[in-house]
Amino acid sequence: MLRRLEAVIAIGALFGLVGCARTEPVAVVSPTSIQAATPTPTPTRTPIPTPTRRSTSGRPAPTDWSNLTDPVLHHKLYSAGKVPAVRCALPQPNLTSKAAMVAYAKVLVGCMDKGWAPVVGKSDAVLTPPEVFAYSSKRPAATPECSDPPTTSGAFYHWSGLTGKICFAVERYLGADDPVANTIDFQRMIAHEYGHHVQRSVGILTLYTELMHGKSETGQLEVLRRKELQASCLGAAFLGANKAAFRLSGERLEIWRYIVQHVGDEYGEVRDHGSRKNHGYWSIRAFGSANPASCNTFTAPAKRVS
Ligand SMILES: [Zn+2]
Repeated sequence: MLRRLEAVIAIGALFGLVGCARTEPVAVVSPTSIQAATPTPTPTRTPIPTPTRRSTSGRPAPTDWSNLTDPVLHHKLYSAGKVPAVRCALPQPNLTSKAAMVAYAKVLVGCMDKGWAPVVGKSDAVLTPPEVFAYSSKRPAATPECSDPPTTSGAFYHWSGLTGKICFAVERYLGADDPVANTIDFQRMIAHEYGHHVQRSVGILTLYTELMHGKSETGQLEVLRRKELQASCLGAAFLGANKAAFRLSGERLEIWRYIVQHVGDEYGEVRDHGSRKNHGYWSIRAFGSANPASCNTFTAPAKRVS
């Protein structure tokens, strides 16, 4: 056990590179730019009314952003119930080539489609399966679906055309010293990116930027951390529900627990994903409950999303 964990520690720095969702601007920008950056509404979202109320003084009343942020803070997703355990036969993992990684990732995503579809349905939304692509971080342009990847992350989620897309960098998972820990981290990464797809499917990923209105850069970064920690939390809820299929028990579970406690902003320069401690907190809690009710990072106290 210890030797295995030491091996994990040796590649631990890699785990700091958490996947991000690129539907938000890469840099923290003004609210007007943020709205422009999320042009595609989800099918379940009703049009945003333009506030036209006037105060008794005759001047336009201040915009009440709470109408827009309410679905993020109090979404039905949080009361939709547990993620179910689904029929999911995982093949022997093979992360030794780009093609093998994509094939394996597609099986994982297929399992996640089955697990999340009923939960998203109970949240009054529809889940359309996302696509998966692998790109080379040296030549991302060779994979047009994943061109222009963020430099601070080995994976990202975005929406284009009519589908969500999960993109990951092949180099991050090739040639790992510990293939077991590498596979568990790969599963964790796909589950995190799928968490963004759930956020997108229910409208949270479209609306959360409204929480940034009027906030300083520090405040906007906190909103980004709430979104990222929630993606990891949702990913962990799925893995907890399906721990038997993913064989996350015993030593393998210890490795997973170690990894989720070593993902965090400590390994990067931007405070946009959350600390190791909080990443571990949300992940381990949701793994135990298997329920997105454990994942309302948007109403959590600031210290839980630091
Ligand atoms: Zn992310």
